Amino acid sequence: MSPRAKAGGGIDLGGTKIQTVIVNRRNEVLGQARAATPRKGGPKAIAAAMAEVLAEAGENAGYATADLTGVGVGSPGDVDAAAGTVSSAKNLSGWSRSFPLAAVLSDELGTPVALGNDVQVATTAEFELGAGRPYDSVLGVFWGTGVGGGIVLDGKDWLGRGAAGEIGHMVVKRGGRRCPCGNRGCMEAYAGRAAMEARARKLAGKGRKTVLFELMEGKGKDRLTSSVWAKAVKQDDKLAVKLIDDAVKALGAAIASAVNLLDIEAVILGGGLGIRFGGLYGPEIERRVGKNLFDAADPPAFRVAELGDLGGAVGAAQLAAR
Ligand SMILES: [Zn+2]
Repeated sequence: MSPRAKAGGGIDLGGTKIQTVIVNRRNEVLGQARAATPRKGGPKAIAAAMAEVLAEAGENAGYATADLTGVGVGSPGDVDAAAGTVSSAKNLSGWSRSFPLAAVLSDELGTPVALGNDVQVATTAEFELGAGRPYDSVLGVFWGTGVGGGIVLDGKDWLGRGAAGEIGHMVVKRGGRRCPCGNRGCMEAYAGRAAMEARARKLAGKGRKTVLFELMEGKGKDRLTSSVWAKAVKQDDKLAVKLIDDAVKALGAAIASAVNLLDIEAVILGGGLGIRFGGLYGPEIERRVGKNLFDAADPPAFRVAELGDLGGAVGAAQLAAR
């Protein structure tokens, strides 16, 4: 037994990175670590990397993973929390079939593992600990590799039959651009980082000038991360500015539609791009939302996520018994 106070672990599994934290009972972060999500090897390789990155956070906090009271995981895809499985994680390498993530991780870490939907976990964390604290009903919009959404209504997570909150797949243009989900005209087809990158590559391939890929190589990356987009925008790169502008418009239309349907009190913008660009583009997204609101006289509050990059992992840690 560890002589130290009880602590739990949280893992935020994203399409780009794996973020882990060790937190105490007051949700204070005692240690953290992050690494790129493996892009090859499927669920097994990803699970192995998750265990490794959590162990690293544990080392930083002075805890062996087996001494943790439990570990929570926020995962993309279809999460069956009761069965401990994840399937159809489309932004992850080779992860279409059901994989017993909880059991595999639990074996590796020597402590119980609980799963939740990544975006719902992050939304609940903002609702309980972050920007959503003053409200009873919020919509979380997580602008990153894809665009995820989470809903809290009257203090309760709204999961539908398990797949609620997919704001990225609200149709903003009938017959529009092909989305990574296979359908056409989804908001994510314009605003998701993966879709934006695919579009940028296509246009650059056709001869459109852009510094995006030079910046990417200069940073030693093999994909257009949020920091690459930010730098290109700072340099007034026309293609980057145009694609971000398209993203902002799509986000505005979809968020407004969701607000018209749910009439929540606040919209919380998070995710890698949301946090990085919230200050710069948040007001413009908010303005776009306002233009399409049915009840424009009484718009919801618009907030950038307060828990930052660690929000998903801190939220995931809440899933675990502590
Ligand atoms: Zn879609």
